[in-house]
Amino acid sequence: MAELARDRGIVLRTQDHAETDRIAVLLTPRGRLDVLAKGARRLERSTGAVLDPLHVVDVIHYRRRGLHLLKEASLVRTFPEVRGSLERATAALKTLRWVVDLVPTGAPDDRPYALTLEFLTALDEGLPPPVFTVAYTLRLLSAAGLGPHLAGCVRCAGTELLTWGPERGGLLCARCGGRGAPVSARLWRSLDALARLPLPALARLRLPDEDLMAGIALLHQFRVAQLGR
Ligand SMILES: [Zn+2]
Repeated sequence: MAELARDRGIVLRTQDHAETDRIAVLLTPRGRLDVLAKGARRLERSTGAVLDPLHVVDVIHYRRRGLHLLKEASLVRTFPEVRGSLERATAALKTLRWVVDLVPTGAPDDRPYALTLEFLTALDEGLPPPVFTVAYTLRLLSAAGLGPHLAGCVRCAGTELLTWGPERGGLLCARCGGRGAPVSARLWRSLDALARLPLPALARLRLPDEDLMAGIALLHQFRVAQLGR
């Protein structure tokens, strides 16, 4: 009998596999874990779906030929306000795609898990979705060692004529050759606040919508430049 392992994780996404199986991608305190649930889709018709995205679940699994096969899954908690709102659920699912790219399997670092749980809880309690997206993504990138440089120009540390230089790792001023989207002083301060303020302060933060939208666009460019997608 293969050795059983037990993990708690947040379901990031699921995909169908073969005729009745499902693969669930989880974020656990030990990094990413992909589990194959044999017959899951047949089972779900009668018992409901435990392994739905944005559920926190306990899983018991074992290894066979390089795969983690699911033996048991039980629901630990849900985020009902997130799942019940199209805007929040969409923000959460789109934002959690970063995790799949940034957190390896078997990672010894539990910060991405703790961060994700903390931010999903805040989103469930009313943190505005754009604030969630920008603040969480900036912190996840930092935890992965890829946090954008936001303390002035990445080359000269200057704070004037800043532009977005995602391929250079963050802000780059025009004097140092920055040719990307201009980043106003106000936007720069907003991003810095989103990257650093503790959650209770974030929940009270009132930032202009245009700064939040600009932040999401800059992070998208950063993703393409740093991760190639
Ligand atoms: Zn510079």
